[in-house]
Amino acid sequence: MNTASNGASRAALVPDYVLGIAPYQAGKPIEELAREFNLDPADIVKLASNENPLGMPESAQKALAAAAASLARYPDPNGFNLKAVLSARYGVPMDWITLGNGSNDLLEIASLALLSPGTAAVYAQYAFAVYRLATQARGAMHVVVPAKDYDHDLDAMFAAITPDTRVVFIANPNNPTGTFVPAAEVAAFLERTHEAHGERVTVVLDEAYTEYLDPGMRFDSARWVEQYSNLIVTRTLSKAYGLAGLRVGYALAQPRLTDLLNRVRQPFNVNTLAQAAAIAALGDAAFLQRAYEVNLAGRQALYDAFTRLGLEYVPSFGNFVLVRVGDAASINLALLKRGVIVRPVAADGLPECLRVSIGLPQENQRFIEALEQILSDA
Ligand SMILES: *Cc1c(COP(=O)(O)O)cnc(C)c1O
Repeated sequence: MNTASNGASRAALVPDYVLGIAPYQAGKPIEELAREFNLDPADIVKLASNENPLGMPESAQKALAAAAASLARYPDPNGFNLKAVLSARYGVPMDWITLGNGSNDLLEIASLALLSPGTAAVYAQYAFAVYRLATQARGAMHVVVPAKDYDHDLDAMFAAITPDTRVVFIANPNNPTGTFVPAAEVAAFLERTHEAHGERVTVVLDEAYTEYLDPGMRFDSARWVEQYSNLIVTRTLSKAYGLAGLRVGYALAQPRLTDLLNRVRQPFNVNTLAQAAAIAALGDAAFLQRAYEVNLAGRQALYDAFTRLGLEYVPSFGNFVLVRVGDAASINLALLKRGVIVRPVAADGLPECLRVSIGLPQENQRFIEALEQILSDA
């Protein structure tokens, strides 16, 4: 029993792929920055985790209060009421739906069901960091396909599929770049991947920011799920629906894949409060529309400021913008000292850039003024 305290033998007891994990770097919490720099939390602006600046919908707050009375019981393990809402909305049977403790949970569940040592996952350079983590935790191989103008290169990703490949992860729109592959190109990729590889290769299409797309760009990915038995579409309540702290997301897939996901998830992976609030938020079209409009205006305000300051940015389809500032680490520190939290993305291979979540008008303004001062001092 004592040998586990010895460093060398511990390394032998733990898989190399676990020791090789570089943990996810989350946005700094407001309270932590307040402690570090002795700032008033009320004066801190956090534009670092793509959260909804409008806060939680009031409809969801009411649902939470009502659900609180039943917390001595375990949650509904099958999420019946929430699945019924999703089923009606997307026109798919309830046994095509998997709920997750955030959509992050669903990405983990998919990798748990489908990846193992000796298999491979394909994803793009600058794609969402969780694809790397979920692949690494299974001991599977990473095939990282170079980005094209910061975006997914779906032709190259198709070409990168080998007999070992079991999963292709696609984020659309992508985080941290904000890029978007038009529906027709995604459809063509799904068609040729299904035709060439059938059910051997599962495509995980992560649509965490889909609600922020302009109406003319939106598409109904539930119809793709009907068409392709190798497709999992994931969505979240964390971003446009304003429920990041509750952790709830969902996946749509045909029953064969849904059954696999169900085998490896925790029995009670989505808690009672999250289920109740998600139902309320999904029914709150007015909140969603407001979130969309605040985002649209804020995005333009950031673009205008970046243009004025001579900074390059990647046009974004999400609720954040990737901007090239040069010495991002120093600028990030200077922003923190001024009480503005944004996200450095060096760990994503973008050391000259910062990712800025779109906030309320006054929050965007605080960030822009701080950045302008820092750049003029330099
Ligand atoms: C934020 C995000 C998610 C996951 O968010 P959850 O809070 O776990 O639902 C998934 N994919 C992308 C690309 C994201 O940016």
